[in-house]
Amino acid sequence: MTDNLRHLLGRAVDHAVAYRAALGENSGKPEADYYQMREALKSPLPEVGNAPEAVLEELIGRISPGLMPMAGPRFFGFVIGASHPAGVAADWMVTAWGQNAGYHTPTPGAAAIEEVAEAWLLDILDLPRESSIGFVTGATVANAVGLAAARTRVLLDVGWDVDADGLFGAPEVAVLVGDDAHSSVFSALQMLGFGYRRVHRIATDDQGRMRPEALATVLETLSGPKIVIAQAGQINTGAYDRFTEIVAIAHAHGAWVHVDGAFGLWARATASHKHLTEGIEGADSWVTDGHKWLQVPYDSGFAIVRDREAHQRAMTQWGSYLPSINPGDRVPSAFVPELSRRARGIPVWAMLKTLGRDGVAALVERHCAYARRFAERLDAEPGINLINIVTINQVIVNFGDGDAESRKASTEAVIARVQQEGICFVGGAAWHGEWVLRISVSSGETAEQDVDRSADAIINAWRAVQAAGN
Ligand SMILES: *Cc1c(COP(=O)(O)O)cnc(C)c1O
Repeated sequence: MTDNLRHLLGRAVDHAVAYRAALGENSGKPEADYYQMREALKSPLPEVGNAPEAVLEELIGRISPGLMPMAGPRFFGFVIGASHPAGVAADWMVTAWGQNAGYHTPTPGAAAIEEVAEAWLLDILDLPRESSIGFVTGATVANAVGLAAARTRVLLDVGWDVDADGLFGAPEVAVLVGDDAHSSVFSALQMLGFGYRRVHRIATDDQGRMRPEALATVLETLSGPKIVIAQAGQINTGAYDRFTEIVAIAHAHGAWVHVDGAFGLWARATASHKHLTEGIEGADSWVTDGHKWLQVPYDSGFAIVRDREAHQRAMTQWGSYLPSINPGDRVPSAFVPELSRRARGIPVWAMLKTLGRDGVAALVERHCAYARRFAERLDAEPGINLINIVTINQVIVNFGDGDAESRKASTEAVIARVQQEGICFVGGAAWHGEWVLRISVSSGETAEQDVDRSADAIINAWRAVQAAGN
């Protein structure tokens, strides 16, 4: 048994190291696309079993052509971390230990280390230290958890127990959200019975920041329970809402303030960019990811709620077989939707221990500097239009000087060429009536030379598109 395990994991290590070693050199795209992979992998359920080693070798051999180098240095398509080696190793131990981390008494180590990770996160993000954190899969679920806590509290305040009695017949809850909020916020609202359409969408400025005066105007017209959803780090522009004003206006109207800061909250770990989040500590719940800027392997997100009681009420489940709780105990499952889950606090602990406060700040600052470098390089090329004010790690540009239609065609052609060439990966998005190429710098593997190679690739693609006359 031991020898078999050693052999099997040894093979996994060899393959993993070889894969990682090639990431910096290989192209920025998979060899095979989704449709080819679907064909290549199609096979019936095995009637009889196979040796684990043969399964591992076959798995690696067959899936490899379809792997996107997301953990590599030149993937700028989403805000993405590079699954840092320290996090990968810790995550492998989580798997090997096989703890069901939902309860604290059967898994004392996993529960206790999660409490340490919780305190460290509140410290480095400088959020109210009494807050509780649910360790979830990502910011989408974290948004749902934070907004569930909000729903619990704003309805309790008017005498309605939504967790017991549901939303039917409940007092109406008004939900106000900036017009450029991330899609995951709407997904969370949909899951919670608030609907993604019935919200009050608040006007934003050219960078996607909620306009405080527009928020105030809408709040004036509303009575009853209210939830305001603000944003730290718009997915295209990187812009931050003006939290001091928004929190003051929202709280004056008795609203709960929830902030989606999936990547942007990490600005708080730096001296140079923390000011962007000024006033955010006055909000009631916050969301951020571990698998983005902190480089924790997938999947890792945090639902942070100042009102611990509301957080637990919204998430706790009860069963006679579950161990009883002593006062002061922190039950890991009481802050997340799941009961059984992996010990998600462990790789978070490992990454914070590996990077330290200084290392996280340096990482974020380096990525912001790389984003500025990208912007300067691209902006200097005739016909490339820098669309956003680069305040953090996001850059959006488009191409050409014709009308919006022709800019869109040029931009799509450039993106297609860049993706085809495969030196780096970038994607496109709609932004305020324009089609843009978007660059998110957030991989711990990215170095200055990767920025320059990628900027060259984009500029060359644009020149080729112009030469081809489209
Ligand atoms: C990435 C992102 C999300 C969603 O996060 P997941 O971890 O993918 O669920 C939500 N909001 C913003 C601003 C994001 O950048």
